[in-house]
Amino acid sequence: YIRFEQVVKRYGDNVVLDHLDFRVAEGERVTLIGPSGSGKTTILRLLMTLEKANGGVIWVNGDSLSHMRRGGKLVPADEKHLRSVRSSIGMVFQQFNLFPNMTVRRNITEAPVHVLGVSQDEADQRAGELLELVGLAEKIDAHPTQLSGGQQQRVAIARALAMRPKVLLLDEVTSALDPELVAGVLDVLRNIATTTDITMLCVTHEMSFARDVSHRVLMFDQGRIVEEGPPAQIFSEPREERTRSFLQAVL
Ligand code: ATP
Repeated sequence: YIRFEQVVKRYGDNVVLDHLDFRVAEGERVTLIGPSGSGKTTILRLLMTLEKANGGVIWVNGDSLSHMRRGGKLVPADEKHLRSVRSSIGMVFQQFNLFPNMTVRRNITEAPVHVLGVSQDEADQRAGELLELVGLAEKIDAHPTQLSGGQQQRVAIARALAMRPKVLLLDEVTSALDPELVAGVLDVLRNIATTTDITMLCVTHEMSFARDVSHRVLMFDQGRIVEEGPPAQIFSEPREERTRSFLQAVL
């Protein structure tokens, strides 16, 4: 569903992604691990078109993020094309980024109503279902400031799912939380992983979560994939010294 083909990303002289190749199949759950600064967040930002690659091609469900087909010819992607590709992707950030002046209900229904054109009634009903899924049904009329960080992050997950994305990108979604709130958010994500067929690409430092939910783990260092494999292999029998030393440092 997602494909990076020889993708290069630089900031000035700093080569963050160096001819990166990888794929994520439809319904697959892939976790990116690796040291700070290895380029993991950059991958998610490129997919959300918050950044542009300097080289290579990124594909989402067969559509390129750099070009589109018009009358049999490939032309540079315009904003409309990018919006349409992006509409299949939901992202949850480290900082919850809820709209502070809107209720939980409006946080969740705003985009479905104004972007997808769903009726307010239908969006409200879906918001109720999603809040049930993340265990916050009773908070539908609360404001974000009345919620704990963990609860806000669960609302952010519900908000991302309200757009019915095919892919969910998770960028260190528990790293800004107090330790006692982490488990609740991870439980919600485990539940989503096991009860839906949504494609997931996550960056996390929570190794036991990565082990539980991922089909495949990619170990990054310096903008390249050092090693990849099923979690049981990566965590128990890493082949590369770089993976071993990284896991020793974080486990
Ligand atoms: P972390 O786990 O700390 O979030 P990461 O693996 O996600 O690390 P990235 O955030 O993708 O790493 O950053 C990769 C590199 O790109 C880093 O060296 C960072 O300093 C650099 N970088 C990221 N964003 C920018 C930017 N907007 N301008 C300049 N350099 C940047």
